[in-house]
Amino acid sequence: TGIPTATISRLVTYLRILEGLEAQDVSRTSSGDLAERAGVTAFQVRKDLAYFGRFGTRGMGYTVPILKRELLRVLGLNQTWNVVIVGVGRLGQAIANYPGASDYQFQYVGLFDVNPELVGQSVRGLPVRHVDELRDFVRTTRVDMGFLAVPPERAQDAAQSLADAGVRGILNFAPTVIQPRTLERSGQQEISDEWRAVIVENVDFLAGMKRLAFYILNPHLKTVEPE
Ligand code: NAD
Repeated sequence: TGIPTATISRLVTYLRILEGLEAQDVSRTSSGDLAERAGVTAFQVRKDLAYFGRFGTRGMGYTVPILKRELLRVLGLNQTWNVVIVGVGRLGQAIANYPGASDYQFQYVGLFDVNPELVGQSVRGLPVRHVDELRDFVRTTRVDMGFLAVPPERAQDAAQSLADAGVRGILNFAPTVIQPRTLERSGQQEISDEWRAVIVENVDFLAGMKRLAFYILNPHLKTVEPE
């Protein structure tokens, strides 16, 4: 049985709230308090957390540093994640230059592009390598995630380079759907081996703008119903 993706999104929100509380030296919170700050119901908070264990004491609420530590553990944010950026144009460079990721032990270990004018340059102290070097690169450096910041028409190829190199997580910024490669085996289409363990997440601020446009025109349709 799975866990709703909305739950995982909310855990990230609760974590951010807990970090804010900790910064203000607030040591205790409750599902009601977290719910109000997250814009959901207390029932939803309890249900989201219950997927992963029991973190509070009935009637006593939660200890902020403990719940924060547990959420970091659940989300896997208490370990380092080595990230490469594929496509070092406007967006790729902006991401590489943005310092926030290092708060969570996400570290950029490699930058890859195809543009000969970029290859060999360095961005934030990291050299830009040719994407053809990715496979060799992962032999010596562990790579957990690849960010795809290439033009949409190049995204599938670039994703294939990441999958071929054995990178299991792809954060796709290109407005295109990444398809795993399939091959025919005994008359059936099957996902090819290099894609079996690959997870793709999409980030698209234009999609957010489109949803926003819809909700500005239809504000009565916006709900905070549990998903
Ligand atoms: P850009 O043209 O400035 O940069 C793209 C880079 O990718 C270039 O340097 C190019 O040489 C490189 N590239 C092309 N093919 C490649 C390949 N096969 N392997 C490696 N590198 C390759 O574009 P941009 O403005 O940085 O936008 C990049 C992508 O991000 C686009 O798909 C754009 O639509 C998208 N985008 C998404 C968001 C978002 O919120 N998700 C925001 C802005 C842009």
